[in-house]
Amino acid sequence: MVVCKCRKATRVYCFVHKVPVCGQCICFPEHQLCVVKNYSEWVVNPDYDWPQHCSSCNSVLEAGSEETTRLGCLHVMHRKCLVSHIQSFSTQTAPAGYVCPSCSTPIWPPSTIKDTGSCLHSKLKEAIAQMTS
Ligand SMILES: [Zn+2]
Ligand SMILES: [Zn+2]
Ligand SMILES: [Zn+2]
Ligand SMILES: [Zn+2]
Repeated sequence: MVVCKCRKATRVYCFVHKVPVCGQCICFPEHQLCVVKNYSEWVVNPDYDWPQHCSSCNSVLEAGSEETTRLGCLHVMHRKCLVSHIQSFSTQTAPAGYVCPSCSTPIWPPSTIKDTGSCLHSKLKEAIAQMTS
């Protein structure tokens, strides 16, 4: 565990700014396109790919050019790519069954991130509610 600057304990680390981030602060604009992973991965290997690529279309993510959404697995993708990705699931798929196109883990934040602030979770929920309504 490491401690975010807002003093919440977290397991997540921003590789770009080299600071721990909690599930709340990860939503700040300064970390919008950052490579964020588990702190345990940072300890093993602090290298990261830069710039970040969209987990779906694989093009470079640029600040301010298009809306992006961070998934619970911490991957970042274009909002429009998330929309078409979600639409590619059958209508019988419950939201709980949505997985990331890149790592195939659920798009919803695991409890380790959710417990340190629900911002990531609520933003994602909001984005999906908007596109499915
Ligand atoms: Zn924080
Ligand atoms: Zn950052
Ligand atoms: Zn994309
Ligand atoms: Zn992922």
